[in-house]
Amino acid sequence: MNLDTLYREEILEHWQNPQNFGKMRGADLVIEQVNPLCGDQVTFFFKIESGKIKDVSFEGSGCAISIASASMLSGVIKNKPIAALSKITGKNVLSLMGADKNSFPPARLKCAFLSLEAVRKIGQMQAD
Ligand code: ZN
Repeated sequence: MNLDTLYREEILEHWQNPQNFGKMRGADLVIEQVNPLCGDQVTFFFKIESGKIKDVSFEGSGCAISIASASMLSGVIKNKPIAALSKITGKNVLSLMGADKNSFPPARLKCAFLSLEAVRKIGQMQAD
């Protein structure tokens, strides 16, 4: 990985101690996302109130990049309006990890974007 040691340690820290980790009781929305290339699997749980992400949690298993990005992203989207979720870009997610698109090989970018794909589905559901 072409990353500063600081960020590499942060990714490992999030992987070992993910934030907002665990199943949520009474979730309004459950979205599962799988990355078959790497075997990563995350399930996001959302509580939605007045068009906002009132609470979010996730569970799953996968490589350090997939779990760390899920952990970091879950912290970012809490209390955000649903309309703001579609504005989160892959670049935003990478910058949370101190990375850019050149930091990981293409296969690992799939790992980094797994959670973002799940989060973006909410916006699509609301639009439907
Ligand atoms: Zn992965």
